[in-house]
Amino acid sequence: MAMQVKNETRTGLTAEIKIVPAWAWTLAVVGFAIAQLFFNVVMARHQHAPPAWCRALMGLAAGTVLGCYLLLVGYVNRDARRRGMSSILWTLVAIFIPHGLGLILYFILRQPERSACPQCGNAVQTGFNFCPGCNYKLGPSCPQCQRVVGVNDVYCPYCGTSLRNQAAP
Ligand SMILES: [Zn+2]
Ligand SMILES: [Zn+2]
Repeated sequence: MAMQVKNETRTGLTAEIKIVPAWAWTLAVVGFAIAQLFFNVVMARHQHAPPAWCRALMGLAAGTVLGCYLLLVGYVNRDARRRGMSSILWTLVAIFIPHGLGLILYFILRQPERSACPQCGNAVQTGFNFCPGCNYKLGPSCPQCQRVVGVNDVYCPYCGTSLRNQAAP
């Protein structure tokens, strides 16, 4: 957490953690606190309670698991929306399918990430060359035949026009 994050790791774990909403962080902290309360206070009153050091360790472990789970639920809530999936449905799946299976299901079934069209703001699937909403050119295309070409193509694979002077947008 203390490490300085560079720009090239923006799509990495740190960027993913940033989309976890504030309410999920709050719930995670509350959940962690409740686990401490349960193992160190409530359980201590029990006649056959384990020793204090054992209860403290159990509380930390349970609190960490619970906190991470709540953060992941928050992540699913935001990530689903970003990918054009039902945010409410997947949040409920993550919460109510037990043993973290809802979370696993989400990461298996989630749609490819989408980005916003710079012209109309429409959510566009990564890899598209034109925005389906406003026909904005998101990737390079041939100036002669207007077909979509690869970023590193030197000649158009359809009509042979040189693309050397084409600057990528
Ligand atoms: Zn658009
Ligand atoms: Zn062409």
